[in-house]
Amino acid sequence: MSSLFRTRFAPSPTGYLHVGHAFAAREAFDTARDGNGECLLRIEDTDTTRCRPEYEAAILHDLNWLGFEWTTPFRRQSEHFADYQAALDRLIGLGLVYRCFLSRRELAERFERDGIAVSPAGERAYPGPERIMSNDEAEARAASGEAANWRLSLSRCRDHLAADWDQLGFEETGKGPNGEAGWISARPEWLGDVILARKDTPTSYHLSACHDDAEQGITHIIRGADVFHSTHIHVLLQALFSWPVPVYRHHGLVMGADGCKLSKSDHAKSLRALRQEGLKPSQIFQNWTLS
Ligand code: GLU
Repeated sequence: MSSLFRTRFAPSPTGYLHVGHAFAAREAFDTARDGNGECLLRIEDTDTTRCRPEYEAAILHDLNWLGFEWTTPFRRQSEHFADYQAALDRLIGLGLVYRCFLSRRELAERFERDGIAVSPAGERAYPGPERIMSNDEAEARAASGEAANWRLSLSRCRDHLAADWDQLGFEETGKGPNGEAGWISARPEWLGDVILARKDTPTSYHLSACHDDAEQGITHIIRGADVFHSTHIHVLLQALFSWPVPVYRHHGLVMGADGCKLSKSDHAKSLRALRQEGLKPSQIFQNWTLS
């Protein structure tokens, strides 16, 4: 792929887009246009239990209504599970991932019990298999055919990358949630041993997003500051796979009247509802602002 200025808008069809998505799309599409590049649309629908075709159709409708244009055909991640499985298999081959059998609830209980505090990334970072389950138990459960999540082992990654581990980082040309800017040294340990593949899906957001950013030749990643901390893991994956590190620009979010970021379950603010109330796209951008 050429080194054209290329960005992407990558929504997940788990609900209707809201005003925040309209601003995020505008950041990505307008920046590409101003840089004489292109903005790709990517549908991140790997969560087969929550994503629905009608939400994807609504995304296309909303983006058309807002006046954005993307290169067709667009990439739909659910059509590429074999690619993510292949990437995961490379990590399995290198011994950098391991099976984790615990459910969300069991994990929350362990975190509570072990007093694992919330990291500066706002996460209770999974501390590695040794603290969670004995090798014997994990092997017995795998041998019995029990499904498991695959987690990235940060300690093994550190050994694997050796001196390169300390160089991990990215150029932030926007701002993180606390105004982070410039060269950001990666702190993957703030997120811990993240899930790279789920019991029922051979991938997760981190793996498929980074895979596709490389596959699609994305040069600039423009997205909301709410996912800023994921970048600590993304640059690690890029190093493990020798994928290029794009330039990052995180932007502020649209806040609701309660001071919290909008969420897809806040139906009153869906673009679809606002359109039905008679709002025009220009009014969306006049009536709200990014934080
Ligand atoms: N599908 C992710 C989301 O909707 C995309 C995040 C990203 O741009 O990397 O939050």
